[in-house]
Amino acid sequence: MNDPVVLPDFSSFGGQELRGLESPEEATAATQALLTEDRNAGEPTIDDPGQTHVRLERGIRRLDTWYRDAEVRELTGADEEAIAAAGSSSFRVFETLLLRGVRSIGGEPMDRKVAAELLIGDRELLVMGIRRATFGPDLEFEALPCSACGGLVDLTVPLTDIPTVRLEDPERVEFDVPLRRGAVATVRLPTGEDQAAVMAVPGGNAARQDSELLARCVLRVRQDDGTVTRRPAPTALPMSARKAIMAFLVATQPGPRYADYTWVHDECGEEVSLPVSLATLFRGM
Ligand SMILES: [Zn+2]
Repeated sequence: MNDPVVLPDFSSFGGQELRGLESPEEATAATQALLTEDRNAGEPTIDDPGQTHVRLERGIRRLDTWYRDAEVRELTGADEEAIAAAGSSSFRVFETLLLRGVRSIGGEPMDRKVAAELLIGDRELLVMGIRRATFGPDLEFEALPCSACGGLVDLTVPLTDIPTVRLEDPERVEFDVPLRRGAVATVRLPTGEDQAAVMAVPGGNAARQDSELLARCVLRVRQDDGTVTRRPAPTALPMSARKAIMAFLVATQPGPRYADYTWVHDECGEEVSLPVSLATLFRGM
């Protein structure tokens, strides 16, 4: 790949950090261009079914049924070229990965609309599944510098060892977040569509990005005296409420937490975490 841009930390795609992402105006056009290509050109016809199935935390709802079984596939050279063409926007790279590497969810072919419906954590589970189908079940690090002592280590980490946040009740779509003075906010968890809207906020203003997310995900706030405000303006919410709700959204979003995986370096005895990024997952992509 001739794109020298280092991708941001993988966790910036979802649960752990929602800000600091670019705002790719042309993302829609680029994605549409991808969709008009034959996504299946040159794909292998035989896959190991165990390596291509992904069980999502929430999935997609059709009528009253949630569908959680997804099929991913091994990426090919054609995919690699398309991903390189997606440019330096991490969101666009991620979206391209999903659109090309996911065959179907609940038997429904993957497309932009389905990708937008998915919880951010489900999108990350799918990317992990595409990674597994493409390079196998282990993350392999060669001559990885220990972040404590700088010593070089070879390390193999099974993807199944990466801590993963689960939803207590996958079908629950509204959550109550306690605020100060007995108030309660009722929220929903962010999806791919919300993520795209946050990234479209111009100027990378983190507070505005938070406002965009809160405007979309806070359904109502009930005060201690029973007064209910539906769809409160995020700029009118107390700062403490904004922080509490953002923290809840980040902690509750299901999916892999690469940054929470730690290992002990024998040489120095320190417990350190893994530097996992999209580039690490896809070997320099
Ligand atoms: Zn060390």
